[in-house]
Amino acid sequence: AVRAQFRRVDIGRGESVVLATLLDVSEQDAVERMRTDFVAYASHELRTPLAALTGFIETLRGPAADDPPAQQRFLGVMAGQAARMQRLLDRLLMLSRVQMSEHRKPRGQVDPAAVIARVRDETAPLLDGGPATLHIDMADDLPSFPGDSDQVVQVLLNLIENAIKYGSGESDRAVRIGLRVRQAAPSAMVGVDVGATGGARNGIAFAVTDNGPGIEARHLPRLTERFYRVEGTAARRTGTGLGLAIVKHIIDRHDGRLTIDSVVGRGTAFTVWFPLAG
Ligand code: ADP
Repeated sequence: AVRAQFRRVDIGRGESVVLATLLDVSEQDAVERMRTDFVAYASHELRTPLAALTGFIETLRGPAADDPPAQQRFLGVMAGQAARMQRLLDRLLMLSRVQMSEHRKPRGQVDPAAVIARVRDETAPLLDGGPATLHIDMADDLPSFPGDSDQVVQVLLNLIENAIKYGSGESDRAVRIGLRVRQAAPSAMVGVDVGATGGARNGIAFAVTDNGPGIEARHLPRLTERFYRVEGTAARRTGTGLGLAIVKHIIDRHDGRLTIDSVVGRGTAFTVWFPLAG
């Protein structure tokens, strides 16, 4: 059975398009519905900055054509919107790549010390001159674990970027970010478990902590959902809601675990854990 849905979508400036969706009602399972939603949601997220860009282009051509100061202002806003689209597309591609890799287990070995060296290098430009500082505390002689080094680095970068983005809240307060690496059993992890596939074996735990505003407990179980953002934070302006979804996919692929421990007004700790072989 096939059902057609038509939806008129306002694309701004009085124009609209009609979207037609054909649904195979009999076969459509939950996964398919989610994917349909995903595309709709991603399109919506991209359309918002695009509509703003289109609007500003019209204004630059028309009303602001002879107003250089206004032009400069608008160009600044346009650059911001373009950057937002770029961020969103980067994240969507990253999520898609991670999802495509998910059906095969990673083959490589991950050296924690090499991961930390890369994280240190790649976060340096983000921290340079900003209000956040990164403090690394790594145990000596940590063993390697089976995994994909690029993806493990990606997990830590996403968590540290979040600590930088959200850590200072709405102020310019200095944020102290900790990155602690230890060999540990998963039972040693504190906080709300948001991806418990890992067993009781030994593994390597990476904890990213910040002294930022913290996250209310009711949000914690939902943070790794695609596009989930906590309203009323800097998230609306800068976030895509995909960073932690990417983190969770990578951890699941590694049979790892993720816990979040947060106290409002005090800060947040994200701990990711990867099992050692055997
Ligand atoms: P985004 O890509 O928008 O940053 P994430 O999936 O990475 O989205 O994060 C989801 C939400 O979790 C964010 O909207 C933010 O409100 C919250 N969050 C993530 N990390 C932190 C943190 N370190 N401190 C406070 N809030 C955080």
